[in-house]
Amino acid sequence: MKKVSLSLLLLLPLIALAQDEPVAEQKSGVDIGAILFVVGLIVFIIVVRKIYESKNRKAYEKEQEEKRNAVREDFNNPKYWYQCKNCKVTIRKTIPPNAADCFKAVDHLWTQIAEVGNTKYLCRNCNTLVETKAEPVAENCPDAAIHDWERLG
Ligand SMILES: [Zn+2]
Ligand SMILES: [Zn+2]
Repeated sequence: MKKVSLSLLLLLPLIALAQDEPVAEQKSGVDIGAILFVVGLIVFIIVVRKIYESKNRKAYEKEQEEKRNAVREDFNNPKYWYQCKNCKVTIRKTIPPNAADCFKAVDHLWTQIAEVGNTKYLCRNCNTLVETKAEPVAENCPDAAIHDWERLG
């Protein structure tokens, strides 16, 4: 009897430890899970933001590239003739010219008169000479009610 009770006494702390341990493990397990969840959430937010930012940046860069191309195209290979009714300036451009700072009025009054081409047209009223694909429009001659285009060939 004595032996049994002694061994039981020795076992008791072990039993208590054995019972405590899973509880302690469970507690720390919950903590790690919570930390992992928070860390995961932060990483997820960072990743999503990076993807969003890179998409925005790509869209912005694409827009800038398109603008640069348009300006280059406008410089190298202008598509249209524009003429100001107020100051008579006639230029080739793809992008419409700025309205500001006309020499004869507050603003230029630009008219897209024709597509750039190889046929010469001269206006008998305002002496504007342009090389176009087809006869330029008649409206907004600087020196008369309408242009009077003569095909020079
Ligand atoms: Zn002008
Ligand atoms: Zn004219």
